[in-house]
Amino acid sequence: MKTKEFKLDTPREGFLNITRSVRETIKESGVQSGICVVYCAHTTAGITINENADPDVVRDMLLGLRKAYPDRPEFRHAEGNSTAHLKSSAMGVSKVIPIENGQPILGIWQGIYFCEFDGPRSRKYYVKVMADE
Ligand code: ZN
Repeated sequence: MKTKEFKLDTPREGFLNITRSVRETIKESGVQSGICVVYCAHTTAGITINENADPDVVRDMLLGLRKAYPDRPEFRHAEGNSTAHLKSSAMGVSKVIPIENGQPILGIWQGIYFCEFDGPRSRKYYVKVMADE
């Protein structure tokens, strides 16, 4: 199946739950066993998997990332968003998820998130589904 593209309007900073779109793409593909890749082609955003039950977890993750990668006067990047580039690389821009029985193998508390670190923007992400054979 062709790589599926999704568009997303993001806030200034935030974790947007995209799990449903991944589940639907797998369903459409008809793949029962394989893998799916969730990817974004951005340098100040990322893709991560983490808790979907308590919204305070993603809030705390954003807070932790802000503390871990604060803006620094020594940064030279003229665009002024080096902290967003650092957070993007910390989260990574893709995740690979195994598929069995037509479903992504996710723990009950796991959700897939698009991470925005330099919004608001119009963003894109991609889902690629591949069968075993
Ligand atoms: Zn930049």
